[in-house]
Amino acid sequence: MIAGASLFRFSVSSLLLSFLLTACQGPAGESSLRIFKETRLLMGTAVEIQVVAAEESRAREAIRRGFDEIIRIEKKMGWRQAQSDISRINRAAGKQEVTLDQEMFDFLERALNLCSNTEGAFNIAIGPLTRLWNFDAGGENVPEEEFIQERLAAVDFKGIVLDKKKRVVGLPFSGMFLDLGGIAKGYAVDRATEVLKSQGISSGIVDAGGDMRVFGMKPGGELWHLGIRDPSNMDKVLATFRITDRAVVTSGDYERFFIKDGFRYHHIIDPYTGYPARGCRSVTVIAKTAFLADAMATAVFVRGSVKGFRLLQDHSGLEGVIIGSHGEAYVTGDIEKSLVWVGGKPL
Ligand code: AMP
Ligand code: MG
Repeated sequence: MIAGASLFRFSVSSLLLSFLLTACQGPAGESSLRIFKETRLLMGTAVEIQVVAAEESRAREAIRRGFDEIIRIEKKMGWRQAQSDISRINRAAGKQEVTLDQEMFDFLERALNLCSNTEGAFNIAIGPLTRLWNFDAGGENVPEEEFIQERLAAVDFKGIVLDKKKRVVGLPFSGMFLDLGGIAKGYAVDRATEVLKSQGISSGIVDAGGDMRVFGMKPGGELWHLGIRDPSNMDKVLATFRITDRAVVTSGDYERFFIKDGFRYHHIIDPYTGYPARGCRSVTVIAKTAFLADAMATAVFVRGSVKGFRLLQDHSGLEGVIIGSHGEAYVTGDIEKSLVWVGGKPL
């Protein structure tokens, strides 16, 4: 656990790998361009920011501001932080409505739309269950069935009241609890990317433990080179691809988990059953924003490889790679053309 302040439990693994040199020279004409990168532990994971710049001081200042933005969002959205907006909302469940600033209100409104669009597979009201399983704090017990059933009743995103005019949110009954763990990192990555751009950075990567935004070109004019991990072997890469100006986000059953009686129990909970979702090993979603990609990766994971694949296809602007529960691969969108499978596509 990171000292007190972290939103989620620290997860060691970045789900996607970026292949690049720390400071590579560009070709003639761009010879002064280099990549500068820094890593910090934030939002319970290793967050890495890389920027392409000619001047080190400018690069470092932009990176610092990018991290500041992520820290700001962590303070707003973490349910473990007593003063966060989410904690205020959760404490007021069943009691009163809570007034929000415009950013938080818009965030919740957009997040709730995604809950509806995925028929609740992505569900920000999942808190009662995630707290019961307690993966964030290293939980390793399968809860009693009756407790799971009890909590399921409180996982009700449709009950969340948003009043646009008054800019308030309310949870109608006590026991409800919002958990933004499936989407807050994506939002933070988007915001940090905007901050980098506002600092004059035209090329870089923001990677919050596998929630990534890539933009612009590497020095030398090449696309960024990313890899998808093998869920069965974290040291292996299943496939690589080149991309830019996109968000690339992975949800995997190997991020936070324990094994009991031969079963893998992990942190992505199926809101219909109350148990970890069983239909996938990993889901990588490519979209314009990390906000959308993050929510959809979680939703597709919950839906499983067949229904999840359809969900991706039905939602315009999404591409993805699903590794199913038997290790088989499903690909949708243009990404198929640029994927290079290491050792062949798993069938
Ligand atoms: P991700 O790694 O983006 O798939 O998000 C997993 C995190 O989101 C978990 O650690 C929980 O905090 C939360 N979560 C778990 N299941 C769900 C779900 N079905 N919908 C929304 N958030 C979830
Ligand atoms: Mg997610």
